Amino acid sequence: MRLTPAYSGSVSADVRSFTLEELQARFEAWGEPVYRVPQLLDWLYVRRATDWDAMTNLPGALRARLRDEFSLRPFDLVRRQGSRDTTQKFLWRLQDHSLVETVLIPANPALCGDDSDRHTLCVSTQVGCAYGCKFCASGLDGWKRNLSPDEIVEQVLAVERWSRSERSASRVDEGTSDDTGLATRRLPPAPPQRLVDNLVVMGMGEPLANYDHVLKALKILNAPWGGGLGARKITLSTSGLAPQIRRLADEPLQFRLAISLHGATDETRGRIMPVNRKYPLAELSAACGYYQAKKGRMITLEYILIAGVNDGLDQIKPLAALARRLHAKVNLIPYNPVEGLPWKRPEEKAQENFLAALEKQRVTATLRHEKGGDIDAACGQLRLKTERELGGAARHG
Ligand code: SF4
Repeated sequence: MRLTPAYSGSVSADVRSFTLEELQARFEAWGEPVYRVPQLLDWLYVRRATDWDAMTNLPGALRARLRDEFSLRPFDLVRRQGSRDTTQKFLWRLQDHSLVETVLIPANPALCGDDSDRHTLCVSTQVGCAYGCKFCASGLDGWKRNLSPDEIVEQVLAVERWSRSERSASRVDEGTSDDTGLATRRLPPAPPQRLVDNLVVMGMGEPLANYDHVLKALKILNAPWGGGLGARKITLSTSGLAPQIRRLADEPLQFRLAISLHGATDETRGRIMPVNRKYPLAELSAACGYYQAKKGRMITLEYILIAGVNDGLDQIKPLAALARRLHAKVNLIPYNPVEGLPWKRPEEKAQENFLAALEKQRVTATLRHEKGGDIDAACGQLRLKTERELGGAARHG
């Protein structure tokens, strides 16, 4: 079986688009012992190798065959922005020169540039987005293509490789000193450690519009032989594709689900999210109810607060009713302004009033403190800025 990458029929698929079972079947067909498969997976997901030649415990003939049959395509880092709160935003160039973003968010604001103990990674699933939410930079230039499973998996691995190289560099800088104060010893490279504790599929693109690739990537990232991330540490976010939410409910894996709601009446939501015309709130709510009943898990309703658009107290009652019906919690996110878009973040007082009014309605709600506000952290913003600076060169190779 040859799996075709999303952007080209002529390039062989990246090996990180395949599951353990698929690789075992391939090795069996080649007459290779299947105990070689865990060795290969160790190189890919523990050591995060990006070069076949590094896989020194695999025989040369097998490495040559792997090279012939698969590709192994690490991303190029085009740009990285570090925020004062140590949020890091990465812009990657893919093989076809498309640009995608990944954001690494410290769970607790790390102080004075020190490491945070826990990290959440926000990954993209498409190049651009077709859903055109009015407040979002990702949809401004439309949809280009779906990411392949390996391109979703590689976002995690590439950030972990970056982190490892940063740590190694700082360990070298910290070499011990003798009486003269000169560095005398270089520490060995740090052993591979997993950096990412939580994964949120909330970056550029609508994940459920790229359902098969996203689910396959998440299976690989969740597998003990792959990314090793617990399913409960993985949150999938959708703008509200009701049929796919039902399909997801029937999957055996227990991922968390977040709905990008951003409006609690059809009128308000429809103003900023065109998807609401296709799947109005009644239909979305029924699909979420189905998901909740099947999984028995709490859903999160994401609600970006935009001044004068959806921060009115008229939204409170319908929002609270929906949250109570779905046993959902509400995550309020003050809007991160996007250059070229007219929307603004409400004053802090208005944000707090909205939160208090929701809590008064017995809804579990949080008001997220801004992360990475100084680094174009809103979804799609860094890519858009870079593409515009390059005058479209990135889009056209
Ligand atoms: S918010 Fe999500 S679904 Fe809407 S345009 Fe942006 S990336 Fe697409």
